[in-house]
Amino acid sequence: MSKYWNKKINSATPYVAGEQPKPGQKVIKLNTNENPYPPSPRVREVLADFDIADLRLYPNTGSDIVRDAVAKVYGLTRDNVFVGNGSDEVLALCWQTFFEKEYNTGKAVLVPDISYSFYPVFSSFYDVRCECVPLREGFYIDPEDYCGRECCGIAIANPNAPTARLMPLDDIRKILDANPDVPVLIDEAYADFAEGYTTAASLINEYKNLIVVMTLSKSYSLAGIRMGFAMGDPELITGLTMARDSFNSYPGDRVAQKVAEAALLDREYWEETCKKIIATRKWTESELVKLGFILTDSQANFVWAKPPKQIDAQTLYNALKSKGILIRYFNKPVICDYLRITIGTDDEMAALMDAIREEL
Ligand code: PMP
Repeated sequence: MSKYWNKKINSATPYVAGEQPKPGQKVIKLNTNENPYPPSPRVREVLADFDIADLRLYPNTGSDIVRDAVAKVYGLTRDNVFVGNGSDEVLALCWQTFFEKEYNTGKAVLVPDISYSFYPVFSSFYDVRCECVPLREGFYIDPEDYCGRECCGIAIANPNAPTARLMPLDDIRKILDANPDVPVLIDEAYADFAEGYTTAASLINEYKNLIVVMTLSKSYSLAGIRMGFAMGDPELITGLTMARDSFNSYPGDRVAQKVAEAALLDREYWEETCKKIIATRKWTESELVKLGFILTDSQANFVWAKPPKQIDAQTLYNALKSKGILIRYFNKPVICDYLRITIGTDDEMAALMDAIREEL
């Protein structure tokens, strides 16, 4: 609290990110869903070729080379793509652009009650009423719960975090069909790790109210450059651009734009990395099940696991931390019995399993 802060800051409850190790501290970091592999080798080439004299100049405002790369990957046009400083910024701009009309109508944005914990933070910061819709048994998101309800919009992470469960495209269609007059945001931060899933971006030409948000932080191993993007009808993209230009016209710096373009266009490396992580995820799941853990069917680069009776989630989290292995524990009702474990390299996951066995 401070007398110099306005009312909004004095009453804010900010998002709490996963713990970052201190410089030089050696840990196995499985707590913030980063990718354990380096980015595409094309990134190194781009950095080596980068002319530092270019840093004198402001970057292109829209990160157009990134928009073009995204459009190429998803079979869209530049007008369908918006780029921001990490998908958190893109999501924040979505809240401001699409959901803030709550001011006038009093309607709420609907989000799953167990989901990315930034959604309620954005809602309270931008004065949007947020209605958290309970999940069904087994952390299942029932599309019917988002149909036939008055709201100013809907936001769903798919696969959901931290539960790792995937909603099929047909269920997303159901929600879109039932809500033609409000924006429906699908946050696909982890969708590249889902097997047999076709991105909701494939529906953009059919639904004018669909906005799909993605990040380069996970499947492209680029959490450090802060690049995220949204895809949707040009009308939605223009709205986001207006919000951006009322806040920060240059969210993507020159280095980040070049790096992001190179990583997006190296499809072979991207596919190889995603496949490796999926294979390690399957191995991790089977090892955890052997030890009596209860898991959801993960389609993300993390698993959502309830430890067996011998040990509770918080005790195991603390024990692993004392051994230099960081995973994520949420001390909140419903989810406090579970742990979120990011998929690391094969060696890291083997070390994790050894450490867990020692605790059981
Ligand atoms: N959406 C979800 C569901 C996430 O878990 C995260 C990562 N914390 C993000 C968006 C944001 O990712 P970034 O800002 O790194 O693009």
